[in-house]
Amino acid sequence: MDFALSADQREIQALAREFAEAEIEPHAAAWDREHRFPRELYAKLADLGLMGVCVPEEYGGAGADFLSYILVLEELSRADAGVGVTVAVHTSAATLPILTFGTEEQKARFVPPLARGEHLGAFALTEPEAGSDAGALRTRAARDGDGWTISGAKQWITNGTYAGTFLLFARTDPDTPGARGVSAFLLDGEHVRVTRDEEKLGLNSSITNDIVVEGARVGRDRLLHEEGRGFRVAMATLDGGRIGIAAQALGIAQAAYDVARSYAKERHTFGKPIAEHQAIQYKLADMSTEIDAARLLVYRAAWLKQEGQPHTEEGAKAKLFASEMARRQTAEAIQILGGYGYTKEFPVERYYRDAKVTEIYEGTSEIQRLVIARSVLGLRQAERTLAQG
Ligand SMILES: Cc1cc2nc3c(=O)[nH]c(=O)nc-3n(C[C@H](O)[C@H](O)[C@H](O)COP(=O)(O)OP(=O)(O)OC[C@H]3O[C@@H](n4cnc5c(N)ncnc54)[C@H](O)[C@@H]3O)c2cc1C
Repeated sequence: MDFALSADQREIQALAREFAEAEIEPHAAAWDREHRFPRELYAKLADLGLMGVCVPEEYGGAGADFLSYILVLEELSRADAGVGVTVAVHTSAATLPILTFGTEEQKARFVPPLARGEHLGAFALTEPEAGSDAGALRTRAARDGDGWTISGAKQWITNGTYAGTFLLFARTDPDTPGARGVSAFLLDGEHVRVTRDEEKLGLNSSITNDIVVEGARVGRDRLLHEEGRGFRVAMATLDGGRIGIAAQALGIAQAAYDVARSYAKERHTFGKPIAEHQAIQYKLADMSTEIDAARLLVYRAAWLKQEGQPHTEEGAKAKLFASEMARRQTAEAIQILGGYGYTKEFPVERYYRDAKVTEIYEGTSEIQRLVIARSVLGLRQAERTLAQG
């Protein structure tokens, strides 16, 4: 067993960290306050190859491995979790499924512009009445000659406003309820109308939209994978995607720990730094231990994925633990900073708000527990409750 990162992985990690410290972290508080999506940042990330880190070079990417991509997400999220989710959805949820399920023609056509960061990708599964129970989705792709006409509404679509490519799920067979009648389609920005910007508790530098598709006519070249097998695309995508969200949670928790640790050494009460009070020492010890544990779970899941080994259970465990850990430990960071922690003078209240969503999207904690339980009990995944997990 080798826990060391390779020279290439360390290099990409250092590149992402340097960039995040110089170009993201100094602006993160303002972007949060102003709810500003930093569109210009993604061209800079693209110049460094970070919009397609683990995409093969022949498709316009940097050709690094999946763990390198996870390291990048961790570093970006440490500076700003909104940037982290923008890149995570763009890469894991939009670009990689095209590489996994696309025809040669689809890969050559759709992947390079995404990997080069010429436009952003989005993943459109959730609907007002289909979240965890994604198999209940109602967006309809009706047969129309040799193609389909797609109509429906999707909710909470990350990157919606700026996306040039949408991986969108629609029901091709209205007579088959649940997951089996669903197919996956590749749509352009022009096929989609954004109807709303969501106001959120945190992640204010990311954009989350309601969208509608109103009779978009698409041919066979837009169908990803086989007709009626879209749920398989969605579930495989979320299997990998949730490792990215786990890395996002890890980055947020690391940022909170860094601030809490240095504050504890400087803030004095009762004649000594609070770091010398045992109650504060215990908090920092627990934070550091839980962050380490999460990191090992996240890197293991990423390694399994890049080795082509099963990673459903391990990815769910990584996301479940890392996200709940991030929520717990960002709260502890506020506690260590006392009143200052509750103010905007320090970033820990932002970390706390940002951490919460990692327990919700790409499968809630409850759904991760279902996935893990089914795996450890050897139960077959029942299609309708497979859900976003
Ligand atoms: C900021 C943000 C960004 C998002 N981005 C995207 C995106 O880009 N693309 C996209 O498609 N979606 C996106 N989503 C949607 C997200 O994936 C869903 O919110 C999530 O899957 C949960 O679905 P829901 O909100 O409908 O909750 P529900 O499914 O209604 O669940 C409500 C509660 O019931 C619990 N629950 C549900 N079913 C079960 C069960 N079988 N057993 C036990 N408990 C259960 C849930 O865990 C939760 O606690 C985003 C959401 C947010 C908040």
